[in-house]
Amino acid sequence: MTTEPIPLSRPDITDAERHAVAGVLRTDRLSMGPHLEAFEQATAALAGRAFGVGVNSGTSGLHLCVKALGLGPGDEVLTTPFSFIATTNCLLYEQATPVFVDIDPDSYNMDPDRLADALTERTRAILLVEIFGNPAHFERYEQFARKHNLLLIEDCCEALGGHLNGRRTGSFGDCGVFAFYPNKQLTTGEGGMVVTDNADLAACARSLRNQGRGDGGWLTHVRLGYNYRMSELAATIGVAQIGRLDAILRRRRQVASWYHDALADVEEIHLPPMTEPDKASWFVYVVRLADRFDHRDRQAVVDGLTSGGIGCERYFQPIHLQPFIREILGTAPGDFPHCERVSDRTIALPFFTTMRHDQVRCVAERLKAALAALA
Ligand SMILES: *Cc1c(COP(=O)(O)O)cnc(C)c1O
Repeated sequence: MTTEPIPLSRPDITDAERHAVAGVLRTDRLSMGPHLEAFEQATAALAGRAFGVGVNSGTSGLHLCVKALGLGPGDEVLTTPFSFIATTNCLLYEQATPVFVDIDPDSYNMDPDRLADALTERTRAILLVEIFGNPAHFERYEQFARKHNLLLIEDCCEALGGHLNGRRTGSFGDCGVFAFYPNKQLTTGEGGMVVTDNADLAACARSLRNQGRGDGGWLTHVRLGYNYRMSELAATIGVAQIGRLDAILRRRRQVASWYHDALADVEEIHLPPMTEPDKASWFVYVVRLADRFDHRDRQAVVDGLTSGGIGCERYFQPIHLQPFIREILGTAPGDFPHCERVSDRTIALPFFTTMRHDQVRCVAERLKAALAALA
């Protein structure tokens, strides 16, 4: 058995990306050039959308969607407490109010049956997340948004290239946002992309990312904007990565299925829920301890793995229990019990495109040993 440390995640960079970056560095065009355009078109096509707007992070992309859709003070947005903090921060940037909806413990996404209870006359939008890449319930959210005339933003930062009933991630609602941090399926170092079919929204996002410039030239600003631009260096990495995306996603499905095989009969844990696993875009591989264990048991398992050189993480801490969110929104433990029960017990195991079968087997053995020690 291997004894090398196994990281939680690792970017998959090849000579294709290295040559692409070197090529850009031989030109004078380092921002807002042909590589950005190519990456935008390729990403939009992947999501079945008309427009892509490249930005410097997924968080920036989410912020631009909230801003371009005109959400602000007094507007309530239904969203999940079980996600990365950016999902909520993008609303707070514009003083919109996140209204958390507890999760369905079988998919870890917002429970579609709880949306109606959270609805008020101030509800303007739904901000969905495909948590861990799982698109479960997306059609239900879409139907709910149509029925109640709500805007719909898809935080698909964890789901690039995934499908649900023949629909692609990024194709639900008014706009979607992908992210390209190094732990994502596809990376540009830092980066993000807004995808939409709405030409006005795309034009507004383009202006907002570029200091609020309009058609009037470089030093004319028609709105309060930001510098959220993506460099040509990042964009060309994205183009190279997207050219390999099918192979990347296939490989990640393979790693997930190795884990499934190695862990299927471990009764102390639940394996990751995933709708259509053979078409999914796997972001992370997150197992969950059975309900008879608690957060101290989870910590013991995490400590056991990390002390043996196995990278793992407690994805995610509930957003409503983050210290500053509790201060701002007055949320408290017990508010979203399904989210808290799941979140106390989840462990993200090492998972990356280039992970080998023997590494998966090693993690599985160490995990079993750590679980056995709980007794
Ligand atoms: C990664 C991620 C983001 C965006 O992250 P950035 O680091 O800003 O690119 C947003 N939402 C979710 C759910 C994510 O996983």
